[in-house]
Amino acid sequence: MVDGMRRKSSIRLKKVIKIFAVLMAAIVLCGAAVMRDRLSAKAAGDMEDSRKIAITFDDGPHPYYTEQLLDGLKERGVKATFFVTGMHAEQYPDVIRRMNDEGHLIGNHTYSHMQLSSSNSDVFKEELIRTNDAIEQLTGQEVQYVRPPYGTWDKKFEKELNMFPVLWTVDPLDWCSDNVAGIVQKVTSKVKENSIILMHDEYKSTVTAALQVIDELMEEGYEFVTVDELLFD
Ligand SMILES: [Zn+2]
Repeated sequence: MVDGMRRKSSIRLKKVIKIFAVLMAAIVLCGAAVMRDRLSAKAAGDMEDSRKIAITFDDGPHPYYTEQLLDGLKERGVKATFFVTGMHAEQYPDVIRRMNDEGHLIGNHTYSHMQLSSSNSDVFKEELIRTNDAIEQLTGQEVQYVRPPYGTWDKKFEKELNMFPVLWTVDPLDWCSDNVAGIVQKVTSKVKENSIILMHDEYKSTVTAALQVIDELMEEGYEFVTVDELLFD
């Protein structure tokens, strides 16, 4: 009799343990699933956060088209990078001041749009210094980035002048066509995370195309940043 009761209560205990174990397993599995969902949501969020690109404009500023472009960038809350020549910076100082005031990054594109060669290294260096001085006088900011015309560069200037070259990854050749839709398509079909887009702010068609590119890519979830954020973040 006592043995029977003991057996019954031990069977009951086993049942309780079994139910408890099943419950615990369910809780652990459920917790793991929730955690996994949270992690993958976070990963997706991180990926979205990191889809940064930069749009850059060379050869300016232009007294009319650059102002138009700045208006459009301001409306969209977009920051761009401008590689200006020292000559144009001196000619249109107000545009340079406006770029700086509105949070754009200004870089050096030599004084006279000079291409570096084996025989003009000293003059090239002087042009970089002269352009840095012109920009710094207008903005009060040290110039650290250079886009060498035609992409020709010598690493020795990086140490000598404490400047970093910034090339590009997407070139729609906007300067040789006024076909806005074509320029936009060339950019949007090639662009990806961390792209650096090269355009020229001295053409009406470029300004229209650039703002269209920005609208389309923002819609796709891209965030426009200045090149320093892409290179060092
Ligand atoms: Zn150029």
